[in-house]
Amino acid sequence: MKTILLAGGAGYIGSHTAVELLNSGYNVVVVDNYANSCPESIKRVEKITGKKVALYEADVKDKSKLEKIFSENKIDAVIHFAGLKAVGESVKMPVEYYRNNIDTTLSLLETMKKFNVGNIIFSSSATVYGEDNKVPYTEEMKRGTCTNPYGWTKVMMEQILEDTAKANPDMSVILLRYFNPIGAHESGMIGEDPQGIPNNLMPYVAQVAVGRRDHLTIYGNDYPTPDGTCRRDYIHVVDLAKGHVKAIDYVFTTKGVEIFNLGTGTPYSVTEIVTTFERVNNMKLKYEYGPRRQGDLPESYANADKAYRLLGWKTEKTLEDMCKDLWRWQSNNPNGYKK
Ligand code: NAD
Ligand code: UDP
Repeated sequence: MKTILLAGGAGYIGSHTAVELLNSGYNVVVVDNYANSCPESIKRVEKITGKKVALYEADVKDKSKLEKIFSENKIDAVIHFAGLKAVGESVKMPVEYYRNNIDTTLSLLETMKKFNVGNIIFSSSATVYGEDNKVPYTEEMKRGTCTNPYGWTKVMMEQILEDTAKANPDMSVILLRYFNPIGAHESGMIGEDPQGIPNNLMPYVAQVAVGRRDHLTIYGNDYPTPDGTCRRDYIHVVDLAKGHVKAIDYVFTTKGVEIFNLGTGTPYSVTEIVTTFERVNNMKLKYEYGPRRQGDLPESYANADKAYRLLGWKTEKTLEDMCKDLWRWQSNNPNGYKK
């Protein structure tokens, strides 16, 4: 049975991926410093799956801690989720973002080399397509110009991983470019639990719905899109997690670097998202239109054909599923993982 180390595995996408890996017969080891999560998510992963996770509290930048984890577990592959991800915060705290996101990557790569582990999957983002490429994005497009330090950390980490793979032909590196993950596990036991005021649309919507925020502001309705609001490729987090299992199966069969978009290929506007959430959950949300948010692109969506062709992966869940599952998680856990 192969063992996968999830760096940053207690977070939103990591915890959902842990469930799918355990259900597919992999052993899971998680290392997280709880900068944006808590150990309760992993307890719930164990409840959902009836399986144990080896959980370590440590900073992934800290190589001595990583070495202990690699000595205590025979790691076959790493999935690197550990990172700071708030776009606005990254503009205010660029040094913290570069330090955290790049150093975690370097420490992981150095430790992997020391322990002769050559397989790594990296959580990249559609943001690396930048402002210059045209939708739908395909993997062979050049990385673009980003509008914020968070995006640049992803561009830089992709470059670091590509260079490392080039210098080490036995390595297998997969860069997964996520589009907009939303929703929650259908059990309603795990989901997204942002600290403070949510930056992203769906956690904000969910907190308005549960009464933690007064109303949603939709950023801009004068974009060159069908209804004037921005369009994104929202993907159910469980579909995304299943994409990681396919990528893990694949990473053991190849060498070199592969890049995959993980998205549905279908964009929805902010207004469509809000009205779908209202309809499927039978409620009214308070919202108003406000000015554009700086740095937002009118549209971002994937061409997801490559993941289907090479990994045999495609999304299965609908926007309705995403909205219902998000609400099940938020209404069962109005304060997230806090009691
Ligand atoms: P998240 O914040 O829920 O998970 C990231 C986890 O990494 C958290 O548990 C956090 O505590 C941990 N972490 C951060 N720095 C660490 C460090 N130095 N040492 C140990 N643990 C550390 O975020 P998520 O939504 O699950 O995202 C996972 C990854 O996917 C991130 O790298 C993110 O940039 C990337 N990504 C996310 C999205 C999205 O919309 N959620 C989109 C594209 C890419
Ligand atoms: N958005 C919004 N109000 C909010 C948060 C987000 O209108 O409170 C919009 C945002 O302008 C973008 C879309 O929702 O068009 C998705 O934003 P999010 O931050 O979730 O993801 P992004 O695609 O920017 O990474």
